[in-house]
Amino acid sequence: MAALKGIAASPGVIAGPAFVYTLPRLDISEEPVTADRRDAEAAAFLAGRLRARDGLCVLIEKVRAEKGDDLAGVFEGHLEILMDDDLEFQILAQIEAGRSALAAVRDVVDAQRKEFLELEDEYLRERADDLADIGRRLIYATASVDFVSLATVPEGAIIVARDLTPSDTAQITPGRVGGFAVETGGRTSHSAIMARTLELPAVVGCAGLLDAVEDGVMIALDGRSGDIVIDPDDAVTADYAARRKAYLADREAMLTLATLPATTTDGTTVLLGVNIGTPADALASLPWNPDGVGLYRSEFLFMDRPTLPSEDEQFKAYATVVKAMKGKSVILRTLDIGGDKPVAAIRFPEEDNPFLGWRGIRMCLYREDGNQDILRTQLRAALRAAAEGDLWIMYPMISALEEVEQLKVIQDETKEALSREGRRFGDVKTGIMIETPGAALIADKLAKLVDFFSIGSNDLTQYTLAADRGNERVSRCYQPFHPAVWRLIALVIDAGKAADIPVGMCGELAGIEEAALPLLGLGLDEFSMGAQSLPRIKRIIRATTMGKARAAAQGILAASTAAEAFRVAETAMNGVLGRP
Ligand code: PEP
Ligand code: MG
Repeated sequence: MAALKGIAASPGVIAGPAFVYTLPRLDISEEPVTADRRDAEAAAFLAGRLRARDGLCVLIEKVRAEKGDDLAGVFEGHLEILMDDDLEFQILAQIEAGRSALAAVRDVVDAQRKEFLELEDEYLRERADDLADIGRRLIYATASVDFVSLATVPEGAIIVARDLTPSDTAQITPGRVGGFAVETGGRTSHSAIMARTLELPAVVGCAGLLDAVEDGVMIALDGRSGDIVIDPDDAVTADYAARRKAYLADREAMLTLATLPATTTDGTTVLLGVNIGTPADALASLPWNPDGVGLYRSEFLFMDRPTLPSEDEQFKAYATVVKAMKGKSVILRTLDIGGDKPVAAIRFPEEDNPFLGWRGIRMCLYREDGNQDILRTQLRAALRAAAEGDLWIMYPMISALEEVEQLKVIQDETKEALSREGRRFGDVKTGIMIETPGAALIADKLAKLVDFFSIGSNDLTQYTLAADRGNERVSRCYQPFHPAVWRLIALVIDAGKAADIPVGMCGELAGIEEAALPLLGLGLDEFSMGAQSLPRIKRIIRATTMGKARAAAQGILAASTAAEAFRVAETAMNGVLGRP
């Protein structure tokens, strides 16, 4: 028995035999091919391409039957690229110049992929991943090496791989495959997003996985914690079976809650929004029936890529989310990077204190060359997407009133520019995140300038308690239940009430069950969290009266320590849920 830990990518618990999915290693000769062998190499490539084409045609039909025309269309695009004359011409030219068929395919596909990545046109740039997928198909077909299809995974098996590409995941039949674990990727990698969309338990970013797992060995996987146990003993097997049973029963109960409103027993209704990073997250959240998107972290579109997304690419992503939410509000947060969130396309100076430095709105506003195009481009895309539904714009990391004034001017200028150009755009509500103690303390002043507040409890906690939220050594100091944090939260909600603007919370605290009653009691209007937390918070809200919620809020504000505040909140929660 051995245990591994990866990144929790998609919830669910599963145990089953491992289906190790590795690609056979190819021996690619770098030796020049002699003139008399060149025709044979060219023939190998052409025959390989036909094999790849046949494989792709089978995949297209399978995907069309199981997953519909849209996804089948993606692979029809692959087919077009595979059979493209220019690709053929370049590979044959390389073979003619003395490269082996395999080396020619690899180099031409790699070079084209890099060119795609450099392109301005967002649609073509997105094709770089597709090209890698097509290249893999072509090179194995040219080598006459079959790679195992994921369509043949034994029933209930757990796929174990280095990574899974779009054409890999397209072959997965959810009812058949138990789940998967991969060595690479993070929560927003393609494989993680697909796992959530397919509702398959999954762990990603699990280093050492392939070395540790042999084909056919039993593994148990918990996609909520990132835990993997290889060859579990009887006790662990029983533990995972119990976890799975509880997870499934809980999920069923939670889904039935999804259709009900978040209304207290005495009739107060609050909104429960979802936090998302990508359009796929928005789609995946729909079964949980959120009241809207309370936080769309736009920075994910800017990460893991060498260039910035164009206005059109941003528009497309934002409009997709807005349309997916079908008239429910979507709070788009402008680019919030720096600190722990680097973006390759933007150069950050070395700073001694990056969390206190050029991050969030500061990076957008305060630039040595005065060029605010990153923000202006994003606002253009957001305002255009607002014409497709109910989009609100939210600015992060505000610490001074002048910033809000400046942002409103920039937003107005952007609208004027769009108007002059005759572009279609929509009305938006404009709000700010309250995530610095400075902003919380002048919330009464800020409230006069904006349409809404959203409390970023993650940063508010770290800045109030001067404890880096990612630093293990000071994790004991990072206490979201610290009374100081709650006093600031109360101040912000009161300021919102006095100015008659809604106050939401989109930090992690909004999804913590013990926090639900005191937040409700303080008068929070909207709670925004990961989709899976929605029914848990809803269950608590539906079980309480406002009186009990207010009592919990009073109790937490009167506490002297984080531990005491947590106990007060936990006792109140257990009380309304009828737990001992
Ligand atoms: C927060 O700080 O609470 C927040 C929601 O923003 P992020 O976690 O993205 O910094
Ligand atoms: Mg924040």
